Amino acid sequence: AREARALAPIGPGRLADGTPVPLLANLGSADGAAKAVALGAEGVGLFRTEFLFLDSTSAPTVTQQREQYERMLRAFPGQKVVVRALDAGADKPLAFLNDAAEENPALGLRGLRALRASEDILREQLTALAEADAATDADLWVMAPMVSTVEETVYFTALAHELGLKMAGVMVEVPSAALLADRILAHADFASIGTNDLTQYTLAADRMLGSVAAFQDPWHPAVLRLVGEVGAAGAQAGKPVGVCGEAAADPLLAVVLVGLGATTLSMSASALADVRASLADFTLEQARHLAAAALSADGAASARAAATAIAHSYT
Ligand code: PEP
Ligand code: MG
Repeated sequence: AREARALAPIGPGRLADGTPVPLLANLGSADGAAKAVALGAEGVGLFRTEFLFLDSTSAPTVTQQREQYERMLRAFPGQKVVVRALDAGADKPLAFLNDAAEENPALGLRGLRALRASEDILREQLTALAEADAATDADLWVMAPMVSTVEETVYFTALAHELGLKMAGVMVEVPSAALLADRILAHADFASIGTNDLTQYTLAADRMLGSVAAFQDPWHPAVLRLVGEVGAAGAQAGKPVGVCGEAAADPLLAVVLVGLGATTLSMSASALADVRASLADFTLEQARHLAAAALSADGAASARAAATAIAHSYT
């Protein structure tokens, strides 16, 4: 079966019962676009824009940004491309936006909070994106990082719409946002779950700190329960819920995430083939059973073991 898969043309992500699960790529610059297309990415689920800002002492101009966004959008004609507004702070500090003296930068003025404090930078980025959108024919969506309240959701989505962007959403990376996902999705056009930060904040374990790395496991049922909250809120509101953290690149966890209500999965392009093959082994009903088994475990290891046992009984 593995050989047949390797020879078959790359099709779209779907479950065994035909349910589509678009598989998207995480990109850190336009350079990876061609490889992602070659590996069958159906679009981009997370375009990290930090690369444009990292090595400079000030923000790039609207024109400089627009060129880079257009370059990337041109690689995905007619396809969905989700661009994240600058996510500065904590593991991605920027001298001109963040306060290096903060004692707990992961809990500080980061992500959307930092952009609001320097709103010109956010306005310029969204303007450059709207201009790039108008000049190309990809389906551009924008989202804000590190959103923790409904009020921030209203702020970001209103600003993005005002500046001409059609689809404005938020990343769910903070437990408060997951717990209020129903109210957040009353305002946002979509949600995208960042499991790297969501795990860090749910387990209160710094994702950069080796001594607590064992806590950074998205199989933890507390994380899965939050993912399920967002999935249920998305289904209720009829709005898309993606997952763009590392969890989506784990072939079995990807099935669980779909069982919890994720409608798209985004990952580094090198993971697409294995996740595509894994999804094709399970129906939506089976994915929901895997999710239920993982949710009822006490910890990450037992959640993984429970889902693995059920998966083996199906395949
Ligand atoms: C995440 O937090 O899961 C995420 C996708 O964003 P980043 O890894 O860039 O913080
Ligand atoms: Mg994050």
